[in-house]
Amino acid sequence: MSDVLVVAEHRRGELREVSYELLTAGRRLADAAEGDLHVAVISGDVEEYAEDLSREGVDAIHTVADGEEFNHDRYVAALVALAGDLDPEFVITPNSVNGLDYAPALAGRLGRPLVTDAVAVDVDGEGLVVNREMYGSKVETVIEVAEGPFVVTVRGGEFPPAEAVAEPEITAHDLDIGDLGSTVTGYEEVGAGDVDISEADFLVSVGRGIEEEENLSLIEDLAEVTGATISSSRPIVDNGWLPKNRQVGQSGKTVTPTVYLAIGISGAVQHVAGMKGAETIIAVNKDPNAPIFDIADYGIVGDLFDVVPELIDELN
Ligand SMILES: Cc1cc2nc3c(=O)[nH]c(=O)nc-3n(C[C@H](O)[C@H](O)[C@H](O)COP(=O)(O)OP(=O)(O)OC[C@H]3O[C@@H](n4cnc5c(N)ncnc54)[C@H](O)[C@@H]3O)c2cc1C
Repeated sequence: MSDVLVVAEHRRGELREVSYELLTAGRRLADAAEGDLHVAVISGDVEEYAEDLSREGVDAIHTVADGEEFNHDRYVAALVALAGDLDPEFVITPNSVNGLDYAPALAGRLGRPLVTDAVAVDVDGEGLVVNREMYGSKVETVIEVAEGPFVVTVRGGEFPPAEAVAEPEITAHDLDIGDLGSTVTGYEEVGAGDVDISEADFLVSVGRGIEEEENLSLIEDLAEVTGATISSSRPIVDNGWLPKNRQVGQSGKTVTPTVYLAIGISGAVQHVAGMKGAETIIAVNKDPNAPIFDIADYGIVGDLFDVVPELIDELN
């Protein structure tokens, strides 16, 4: 029996969506390994987070109430202690900025192999099987790591969030974390004052089909009537028409909105890598063979300069 320990992530007082997704990933791995699913919640309002994370499939939640925001040293110390107590075969963290900060240090301290950016996880005998995207997301590879136990970071947007509420056992740990080597002095969002597209529920995303910067006003009008947030493919950012924090994709942000409306975007693998987790994908493209239609739930084949004004009229 091999247990799984998933590490939840929160920021500025809110659990991040990826935490619920990792519950699903962790449960699947625990089922395959015939083990239990444990969840670690460190810092912040751990009682509230533990209640929110009480979802079907979770066997036990472990809280460590120490500090408010993420701190590298605190997370590593708390997780080394929890892993020592629980002895999980797999520790799973989000493949986020925070996760990628502490997971390597944790793996080093525990003397475990680290596998990052998994899009699927499974077990084969005693080993770990991980799917990863490589060569600019052009191929998906399957990696087998024979020698455990393991630390794995899992990409957001790859697993459906665990929804159903349950009543797992919750244990508060009073760990003696001791002196931290570092102090959190403040929190600053990149691109302060601008929106975080990874938190948006409805994205209107624009691609090279828009042709010129002036034409972005059409997309702004559509975003205004729909209440959506604007994001884009990479060429729009490379042209300097939108800031980098609006870019969706492999070298941009991963987004998981309820609706992703892709306008004049071809659907290159590097773009799709960042938005395929959207619940509903709608594409507008004049090329009926554009790859975006392979993953779209709804598609409009047409010239965006005809379609978008009509949509705006209709919505008004
Ligand atoms: C290492 C690496 C990392 C990358 N990272 C990213 C990333 O993070 N995000 C990203 O987006 N890309 C990324 N790319 C670039 C990616 O490969 C594509 O070049 C890019 O996604 C294409 O953007 P696009 O779809 O807007 O443009 P295009 O591929 O040029 O597609 C434009 C689309 O608009 C359609 N169109 C044109 N005119 C109209 C019209 N009037 N009405 C309707 N449709 C129209 C066309 O049919 C076409 O399908 C990366 C590439 C590499 C090599």
